[in-house]
Amino acid sequence: MKEKMHLLRQKLIEADDLEKAAAVLSWDQSTYMPPGGAAARARQTATLAQLAQEKFTDPAIGKLLDELTPYAESLPYDSDDAALIRVTRRQYERMTRIPAEFVGKMSEHTSQAYAIWAEARPANDFARVQPYLEKTLDLSRQLAEFFPGYEHIIDPLVGFSDYGMKASSIRRLFAELRKELVPIVQAITAQPPADDSCLRKRYPQDQQLALGKEVASQIGYDFQRGRLDLTHHPFETNFAVGDVRITTRVKENLFGECLFGVIHESGHAMYEQGVRPELDGTPLGGGTSSGVHESQSRLWENLVGRSRNFCEFFYPRFQAMFPEQLGDVPLEAYYRAINKVERSLIRTDADEVTYNLHVMLRFDFEMDLLEGKLAVKHLPEAWNERFLADIGIQPQDDKDGCMQDVHWYGGLIGGAFQGYTLGNILSGLFYEAALKDHPDIPAQIRQGQFDTLRNWMTEHIYQHGSKFTADELVMRITGGPIRIEPYIQYLRTKYGELYDL
Ligand code: ZN
Repeated sequence: MKEKMHLLRQKLIEADDLEKAAAVLSWDQSTYMPPGGAAARARQTATLAQLAQEKFTDPAIGKLLDELTPYAESLPYDSDDAALIRVTRRQYERMTRIPAEFVGKMSEHTSQAYAIWAEARPANDFARVQPYLEKTLDLSRQLAEFFPGYEHIIDPLVGFSDYGMKASSIRRLFAELRKELVPIVQAITAQPPADDSCLRKRYPQDQQLALGKEVASQIGYDFQRGRLDLTHHPFETNFAVGDVRITTRVKENLFGECLFGVIHESGHAMYEQGVRPELDGTPLGGGTSSGVHESQSRLWENLVGRSRNFCEFFYPRFQAMFPEQLGDVPLEAYYRAINKVERSLIRTDADEVTYNLHVMLRFDFEMDLLEGKLAVKHLPEAWNERFLADIGIQPQDDKDGCMQDVHWYGGLIGGAFQGYTLGNILSGLFYEAALKDHPDIPAQIRQGQFDTLRNWMTEHIYQHGSKFTADELVMRITGGPIRIEPYIQYLRTKYGELYDL
């Protein structure tokens, strides 16, 4: 069995090597590649994706999994070997249903669609992306159809990123959350808006980047095993536990875009830097689901980075770095500015309270598009109508409407957005659990100390990589299923005090 485990690991690592090589190419595409490289790069990533797929779906791996299953069943559920066999089998069964040729086609199409979107969005040209988006929808449907027997056509696609979740369970959680959020948003937006003019001065790019790096280091992102670069649409990517990179964008007329973006991506990255090295290069070597991933980015960005305690420690440092911009702005004014709640157009700029409403409408559009209830060509008008109904304002153009997010243009339609709101819900759940074990965490944050919190997350979440599903992690940590209450409680307390609700 030892020999067979060794062989399995070796084969999995080879497949992972190809996948990570493809990831390096797409990191480069999003950071340093000149526009002229787009066509060749689309082909190169497609080739690597197809090779990785072929390696991973090698029947020899299936045979090894069959032979090793009785061994896995004799082991404790949480042992590395049992988890590796269990998780690999799940992915193997999923991947063997998707023909390698389809994966290549999909990858090539999405690279092209991304390149077109990157040009068409600033030009506000939906007509240009429409045929690409139609093809993406078609391919997304085809992909779902490789997994017949679903309740809803979005379920297989949701399962890729948030295993265990389905349209029915997500709709239920979202409906509960919506019922709580809408009155909070109404109560806050009925008041005069917070003054965030202190954030809208000129903040030079180099200084913002330096500050981002400083804060990321302080909270525990390891630059010996990572780096920060500029991109259009910030992301985190993992080539190995020793090389987990983050990207950001800077707006010189807006303080916060860079800083909170960097904290967000550092949250993703600390998760993957915290995985036990023994799991690296295998299907256990990364974050377990997009919801759990997002719980970490949102926890560090919002529950930590936008907290009063965090400001107490860092704000004097920000003032020292930007004396002209912030020197005479009191901490309280800064705290209110970074927690301003408003009806806004762009999801990534949205505050904590309205953010989930942005996600919910996207999830509903994904379901409508996949069901065939909504045609791609009608998306812009449908978007504007729904946006007005849910958020209370209307986009002036598609650039800031249905073309604002990269997800549908650089990936699938379906499964791309629910993780953000699941992540918010989970961030509240995990933070509450960490505070129960260490009630002094907020006081430590006030002192600029983040080790207790990060170590708690490492012990309970990071180190395990993908050994446990999101549901299993929640069960191990809280003893029950996912609940919205701690997150709602967090919002009520923080915004209740800020807006005197
Ligand atoms: Zn994120």
